[in-house]
Amino acid sequence: MTELVDSIRERYEQTLQRIAAAARSVGRDPSSVRLVVVTKSQPREVVEAAIQAGATILGENYPEEAVEKIQSIAAQSAVEWHMIGHVQSRKARLVPANFNLMQSLDSLKLAERLDRFAAEAGRVLPVLLEFNVGGEDSKSGWPAADESRWDALAASLNPVFDLPHLEVRGLMVMPPIGDTAEASRPFFQHTRRLQSFLRERLPQVDWSELSMGTSTDFEVAVQEGATLARVGTAIVGPRNYNKS
Ligand SMILES: *Cc1c(COP(=O)(O)O)cnc(C)c1O
Repeated sequence: MTELVDSIRERYEQTLQRIAAAARSVGRDPSSVRLVVVTKSQPREVVEAAIQAGATILGENYPEEAVEKIQSIAAQSAVEWHMIGHVQSRKARLVPANFNLMQSLDSLKLAERLDRFAAEAGRVLPVLLEFNVGGEDSKSGWPAADESRWDALAASLNPVFDLPHLEVRGLMVMPPIGDTAEASRPFFQHTRRLQSFLRERLPQVDWSELSMGTSTDFEVAVQEGATLARVGTAIVGPRNYNKS
């Protein structure tokens, strides 16, 4: 266990240093970026080791797998849990009861269900809206690739802001997988422009969080304004895809 903790700690701290350097390279305050350690498909031992290594925010993709970990670990730590994966309507109930932030809110239908379950749980759930900036059919999120349709996009979001038990805090994106980190830059810049557009168009909504960047491109994401970077493999190693 200690060996695992040590190796995760080394990579976690290296990642924090790389985030700080990327932030400084564009004149940003490193403390304006928070690191989410993505532990999807990782066993509980890895999650516990990541917490011992200093991780304060954990990201999970699959509600049921996550809830098992959260409930077995919750008692012994004060970490934040973020949902970052596509959530099917029938699993929506698990989110308000277990997560601090829902990053991957990708449809009005899911928003309405989350609002209802948040009400039942007696809380207001902070959410990020996930936008599909690459126009890929395989990705979820509100379609935002075509800048000429942002007016209609903004109008279509309005019902979300009326849901009393959800509180929008910003945007989340997962651009197409590219060969290099630089390949993601135009998508991050596009997202930044979308953030500015939404701020102007919907000033009553809080758009301050920008969740973008994974193991391969988090430094570029930070240079382009990310406030949350979601890093898995580079910190906790490869996932066991057979497991879940
Ligand atoms: C898996 C995943 C990550 C982390 O990816 P790595 O390449 O392991 O860093 C980040 N964001 C989302 C939405 C993911 O599904």
